[in-house]
Amino acid sequence: MSTATHSTQTGSCQCGAVSYNLTGTPLSSFLCHCTNCRKFTGSTYQANAMYAGRDSLVVTKGKDNLSVCAYNNTTSGNTIRRHFCKTCGSPLFIYPDANAGIVVVMSGGLDDPAAFAPTRECFVKDRLAWVTPIEAAQFETVQSLPRK
Ligand SMILES: [Zn+2]
Ligand SMILES: [Zn+2]
Repeated sequence: MSTATHSTQTGSCQCGAVSYNLTGTPLSSFLCHCTNCRKFTGSTYQANAMYAGRDSLVVTKGKDNLSVCAYNNTTSGNTIRRHFCKTCGSPLFIYPDANAGIVVVMSGGLDDPAAFAPTRECFVKDRLAWVTPIEAAQFETVQSLPRK
């Protein structure tokens, strides 16, 4: 069984115009139930892997095909910059302005997302009533970023 504890992972958008390598050990893998994530993904929550060091993620194809949108209507109040594919719209990764050393990768874009089992759930007060909590996860009412 593969794990997310080491080595390089690969990922891409849905249409394949953008692909990337992800190296290192995630600080955490988590589900986010906030409204911003729900609206952006068009789904019930967003699955994420958070890495220390923005050079953990290297775009290997289609860097010019990325769009970036800054959002400051987040539940935490922090501005985040969402990167997504211009062609297919797939959400790929986030740069949070509150910590320039962090990159948050949307786990569903990884080629082996099974290796990124979530251990935390964030903004659980916004979790939809019919979504089953993950038994082993820690629950947080807010998303905490590591200090700079
Ligand atoms: Zn695409
Ligand atoms: Zn969120």
